[in-house]
Amino acid sequence: MLQKRIEQELAGVHEKGLARRITDLQYEDAVTAKDAAGKRYLVFSSNNYLGLTFDERVRRAASEAALRCGSGSTGARLTTGGVTEASALERDLARFKHGEAALLFNTGYMTNLGVLYGLARPGDVIFSDELNHASIIDGCRISKAQVVVYKHKDAADLETKLQSVQVSPGGVRFIVTDGVFSMDGDICDLPALVQLKEQYGCVLMVDDAHAVGVIGADGAGTASYYHLPDTIDLQAGTLSKSLASVGGYVVARAEVIEYLKNKSRPFIFSTFLSPADVAAAHAALRILEQEAPRLMARLARNTRLVRDGLAAAGLPVVPGNTPIVPVLAGEAGRATAIDFKLRGAGILLSAIRPPTVAPGASRLRFTVTAGHTEEQLRYAVVKLTEAWNEIR
Ligand SMILES: *Cc1c(COP(=O)(O)O)cnc(C)c1O
Repeated sequence: MLQKRIEQELAGVHEKGLARRITDLQYEDAVTAKDAAGKRYLVFSSNNYLGLTFDERVRRAASEAALRCGSGSTGARLTTGGVTEASALERDLARFKHGEAALLFNTGYMTNLGVLYGLARPGDVIFSDELNHASIIDGCRISKAQVVVYKHKDAADLETKLQSVQVSPGGVRFIVTDGVFSMDGDICDLPALVQLKEQYGCVLMVDDAHAVGVIGADGAGTASYYHLPDTIDLQAGTLSKSLASVGGYVVARAEVIEYLKNKSRPFIFSTFLSPADVAAAHAALRILEQEAPRLMARLARNTRLVRDGLAAAGLPVVPGNTPIVPVLAGEAGRATAIDFKLRGAGILLSAIRPPTVAPGASRLRFTVTAGHTEEQLRYAVVKLTEAWNEIR
């Protein structure tokens, strides 16, 4: 039975042009990689927004930690898996995000599972933006709370639902949103969410995975961008994007963090990050704290160059001001064909297709980093425009 089901579903995936494939890459610097056959690519689809994966200080911190403390953490944090630097990183993350305390998880994905599964339970209601990241959707599912999806960034729809959905006695209402949405690159309407959270007595969770190092003058993400410190109850994030490593974290009141340490199964039952992962993220965070103005200015300049270049060439760019620049291609087949053509020209720029986005909303997702040179960005704009006009 299983074999038959797998065969049928795989055939469907191939027929629709939705088959996914893995290209193993080896990076040579923050924006250049080669594949197993030795072909070189300029990468415009990574989340390495500040280009810090190749910063000498970050790499040195990772390698020295591995040499000094071993290659793996050997266990979960509550057993043998401690890495001393983890607590220091948590303190620094909490300070950077203007919160009381932080807890590290193994990935951003596990952070959302760990927080939502840890805090929400049957009888609670989670109000979730329809374009939230898959890890939030999965966190909602395993929490077994009631999930109410509201229209993307639509405060009026959220309010209608807050009024009409009853919570059981003792139940808690959560509002959960991405800070910067991963597929459209737009920013949540934090002031409206804060107002609703206060009016209706909800707990507000914002996932700043794509926001840290990207928005806010100090790179601290959504609350900083809107000049609304201390308004978000749960700030989730990742160490894998601007912070150039792997791992995730949540910042919240100290008591909430204490609770998660005791109750969050994804935290409790998985081997902790390696010393090198923690050290790299910590070094990247220090750099971001010290050099945010320089790094953010570079990222903003590069973002403008690409957004203006593509718009001037007449491509349908989703408007915005973040380095996630989606270009709407329509059908999956067209997005795939453009992607393929660009690979030939040595450019990696991912085609995003269903089920990640809605049918007919396939797109090329151009991500800009502070590590790209002006020449590299101009080249990519020219090549994308050429492929765009050639493939109709
Ligand atoms: C990337 C991302 C995650 C997952 O983070 P990982 O560290 O890659 O697991 C979670 N939420 C959002 C909004 C993301 O963009």
